[in-house]
Amino acid sequence: MPVVAIVGRPNVGKSTLFNRIFGRRKALVEDFPGVTRDRNYAEVTRFERPFTLIDTGGFEPQSQERLLQQMREQSQLAIEEADLIVFLLDVQQGLTPADQEVAAMLRRVDKPVLFAINKVDGERQEQAAAEFYALGVEELFTVSAEHGLGINDLVANILDRL
Ligand code: GDP
Ligand code: MG
Repeated sequence: MPVVAIVGRPNVGKSTLFNRIFGRRKALVEDFPGVTRDRNYAEVTRFERPFTLIDTGGFEPQSQERLLQQMREQSQLAIEEADLIVFLLDVQQGLTPADQEVAAMLRRVDKPVLFAINKVDGERQEQAAAEFYALGVEELFTVSAEHGLGINDLVANILDRL
């Protein structure tokens, strides 16, 4: 079964997206950043196609350096384990140096990587999300994991590239 991993900084909404795609509540979502300590796996069937979805966790790092280290490790695991990676970013937090570094790392990977911008709950955030084109990617997917916006389009594109 193909494997899809969601990676990204703490609090961008990885677990919320995982639950939204899974269709049930499994991963722990909290108002505290970095609540998913471990990796969370689910077998998901969308558009009649099964795949394994991984929610990557982490702790709340004490420093920028620890954050980067955690994201490198998380991304490296996903690169080894997954057939496709969803790199999730947060329009509220904006584009950060850690995102830039991880994006550069993921661009070198010989696997499909989808760049998805979360917390695009409305028109205002839709415009703000254009900031992420600075990552040098051709295509961005905007989603609101919390409100279920853009999810079908993202999932359809995941399945297209598996
Ligand atoms: P994770 O650390 O990346 O797994 O992030 P979580 O899924 O735990 O979510 C972190 C916070 O972001 C929670 O308070 C969520 O309710 C919130 N959140 C997640 N998705 C959205 C969204 O689409 N819009 C908004 N406004 N908040 C969201
Ligand atoms: Mg989480």
